[in-house]
Amino acid sequence: MKLFSCECCAQPLFFENTRCESCHHAVGYLHKVADLTALNPGQEPDLWLPMEPGFESVPHRYCANHAHDACNWLLSPEESARGPLCYACQFNRTIPDLADPRNLERWRKIEIAKHRLFHALIRLRLPIVSRLQDPENGLAFDFLEDAPDGSAPVMTGHSDGLITLAIREADDAQRERLRVEMGEYYRTLLGHFRHEIGHYYWNLLIRDGGRIERCRAVFGDDRQDYQEALKAHYAGPPPEDWQAHHVSVYAASHPWEDFAETWAHYLHIVSTLETAWLYGIVIAPLTPTAPEFSAPAIGGDPYLTLGFDEIMNAWLPLSMAVNSLNRSMGLQDFYPFVLTSSIREKLGFIHDVIRETQAANAP
Ligand SMILES: [Zn+2]
Ligand SMILES: [Zn+2]
Ligand SMILES: [Zn+2]
Repeated sequence: MKLFSCECCAQPLFFENTRCESCHHAVGYLHKVADLTALNPGQEPDLWLPMEPGFESVPHRYCANHAHDACNWLLSPEESARGPLCYACQFNRTIPDLADPRNLERWRKIEIAKHRLFHALIRLRLPIVSRLQDPENGLAFDFLEDAPDGSAPVMTGHSDGLITLAIREADDAQRERLRVEMGEYYRTLLGHFRHEIGHYYWNLLIRDGGRIERCRAVFGDDRQDYQEALKAHYAGPPPEDWQAHHVSVYAASHPWEDFAETWAHYLHIVSTLETAWLYGIVIAPLTPTAPEFSAPAIGGDPYLTLGFDEIMNAWLPLSMAVNSLNRSMGLQDFYPFVLTSSIREKLGFIHDVIRETQAANAP
């Protein structure tokens, strides 16, 4: 995540801020430049003039979900003319029923994760096709609640562009219980979004992008029956050597899940490296260690310019150092995963697909 700062007073701003804590200017997010901006009041009560250079004279509005404290993104006049929702919220097809007060809290957590996902997709310059543009395969989100009688619990998943998220995943206790039951190392709302959008990009960039043979050479043949593969995954123990080739147990269930899990890890890595880059984090252990556990300052934008080896060479020392910091606090490892050469090959394929997509869509 970018390190944002207030144009008025240089106070650091966090991605979710709606106000500068120091000078009290209102703050909003401009998706066209993937940046937060301080705002001056405009001519009408709900119009705001960004202090971001180049935007000073263009009155913007907050997304309608700002009224629920669920979004701080801004709409340009052209966007406002099309509807009240921002770039990230326009993809919401179903939001939780806000008549239940617990759902507002859940929804806010879901939106924080979803907006962080969209910031990364924008920074990666990946195409996003909406349901309006493509009613069959366009992207949309359903945030759904289980039936009160407990019948047919909502399944988080992806189908032809539609991402369903069970809103119980926003309850920490429930999500943690599921994480333990499923034997997972990591389960977060942001992780769910990064995984499910991996399925979306498999359709868009692999299946429809003419890369299916290259993908099969790396991830295996996805034509094996998906439902049968999942049934077998839940019925028995995982293959003994899953860790040699898969970033998680679930990734071993089917090549599609392997792709989505690996895609999620690529987003974990580049998004976290962006934060480390902008904080100027250097890993220079004071005890003698092998050189691969040291990392100089990251030399460029992980989303756009770093090569795959540079990403990997920065990630190992950083994840080891932050794991150690977490252990010092009595917390779980922040990145409890081992990236074997076979997993790196898969991550490298995803990196190549993303760089090719960026080159094809260069501004
Ligand atoms: Zn300020
Ligand atoms: Zn919004
Ligand atoms: Zn999946």
